Amino acid sequence: MISGILASPGISFGKALLLKEKKISFKKKYIKKEDIEGEIKRFFIAREKSCIQISKIRDRIKKFFGKEKSEIFDSHILLLQDEELEKKIVFLIEKKLYTPEYSINLAIEEQIKKIEKLKNAYLKERIIDLQDIKKRILQNIFNFSVVDLSTLKKEVILISKDLTPSDIAQANFKKILGILTDVGGTTSHTSIIAKSLEIPAIVGIGNITKIVKNGDFISIDAINNRIYINPKKNEFQKIKKIKIKYEIEKKNLQQDSKLPCITIDNHKIKICANIGNIFELKNIEKSGAEGIGLYRTEFIFMNRNSLPNEEEQFLEYKSLAQSFKNEIVIRTLDVGGDKEISCINFPKENNPFLGWRGIRICLDKIEILRTQLRAIFRASVFGKLKIMYPMISSLEEVYALKKEIEILKLQLNKECIKFDKNIKIGLMIETPAAAILSENLAQEVDFFSIGTNDLTQYTLAVDRGNEYISHLYNPISPSVLKLIKMVIEASHKYGKKTSICGELANDENAAILLVGMGIDELSMNISSIKRVKKVIRSINYKDAKKISQLAIFCKTNREIMNLLDTFKKEKKIK
Ligand code: PEP
Ligand code: MG
Repeated sequence: MISGILASPGISFGKALLLKEKKISFKKKYIKKEDIEGEIKRFFIAREKSCIQISKIRDRIKKFFGKEKSEIFDSHILLLQDEELEKKIVFLIEKKLYTPEYSINLAIEEQIKKIEKLKNAYLKERIIDLQDIKKRILQNIFNFSVVDLSTLKKEVILISKDLTPSDIAQANFKKILGILTDVGGTTSHTSIIAKSLEIPAIVGIGNITKIVKNGDFISIDAINNRIYINPKKNEFQKIKKIKIKYEIEKKNLQQDSKLPCITIDNHKIKICANIGNIFELKNIEKSGAEGIGLYRTEFIFMNRNSLPNEEEQFLEYKSLAQSFKNEIVIRTLDVGGDKEISCINFPKENNPFLGWRGIRICLDKIEILRTQLRAIFRASVFGKLKIMYPMISSLEEVYALKKEIEILKLQLNKECIKFDKNIKIGLMIETPAAAILSENLAQEVDFFSIGTNDLTQYTLAVDRGNEYISHLYNPISPSVLKLIKMVIEASHKYGKKTSICGELANDENAAILLVGMGIDELSMNISSIKRVKKVIRSINYKDAKKISQLAIFCKTNREIMNLLDTFKKEKKIK
């Protein structure tokens, strides 16, 4: 039985599309003089094919995400058609008699080396673009099929070693029935996106790209963690039954989505949604979410070669504020780690998750932060916006951020630009340092939101996307729970509220403990809201308090789970 790590629930079946990257390797080889013309033609055909592919991607991105986001592909086309590059490649084929593939590689690598020497951050962004076009044109010259996810026509199950968040962002995800990957964990960003788009996904399978062939019929049971390749008739019947049952349960939960999120003894928990892209907004009304507890702004910065300017961001936040009347927590740009974007030049790091990430980038490249904050402040008059900073690990960072806000307010006042004077500012608590300092931090800001995905990885020292140690990644563990409790208590001591916006908020077992610990708000994927709400509506706050007090004294993860299982059995919670 093939299984992996459950990333996004659901059942689906369809034909496999294997995104296997063939290794492009070639040696220095020569062509015969009489073949020069034909070989040059081969280069031009591959280039033409590459331009056509890229322009198709560009047109789709323009249609769905606007002109700005499509510009990166325009520059790819320009790079491909660059006259100097063309002359160099033709020269290498014609005069040196190198094969076209060797010539293309050599000419582009030379350009990359030149840029590297310049030490110019802006030009360094070109390196990623050059590598990208090199890969594409070489794939085309070898006639490897280049799968363009943005123009998928048929519905498929995507099978890949890994998918980056930007890959998914530019894909035609309406045609993606399911995702299976070799690497990754439940809280890797690809899994989070799959969940938010409600695409069934199992990740961290290890070798799925080796087992599956293109066109195989795949059934994904991302409820019971089972993958069937070309299932037998009886297996397929079984999966179909599970799918029908799952769909009915989903529908039933849907009917209850508007019910208030209160325990039997009337303790209220605010339920909010995590939003990662504009598509999710259309589902927000019927989801029962009372607010947006986490708006991940990375999406605005993905798949483009220049940073979004203030005006562009302002329009984005303004339309967000206008389209949803309740509170929206906008998180400032949180990239780095497993989220690299091409409009920022990332250094090579040995430990990206411990490196140039989150607020560190924004404080380092302060203009990025200033532009984003100005845009959010300007948009704040159109709705109920809040601001939240990611990856905080010290008070120094908070002091610097507060200073930025002070300066910004003065500037806006001077320029007579209106903004919400009471805009609330909060912090993500996602490093153990921030949790330990939470009493001090609570005195500086308006609210906390615990990012349990990162808090778990940093507390347990377990990389959240590493399938080899995924069995060690468990937020429902005594150490993480103790930190969560500490943060909630610190915030309450100073009259502030704490939310959870990590994936733990999707977990109905955890909900019992979190409610008992006094959490004020849970913010999660839209698809989990009904399920979590159902559990909260079926418990008593006083019972949840008791069980969470016992959980805090458990020594192992197992003990906590046993405690929860017994509680659920006693209270007949399904
Ligand atoms: C988290 O770390 O829990 C979180 C919500 O942030 P992200 O998953 O975007 O890193
Ligand atoms: Mg995080």
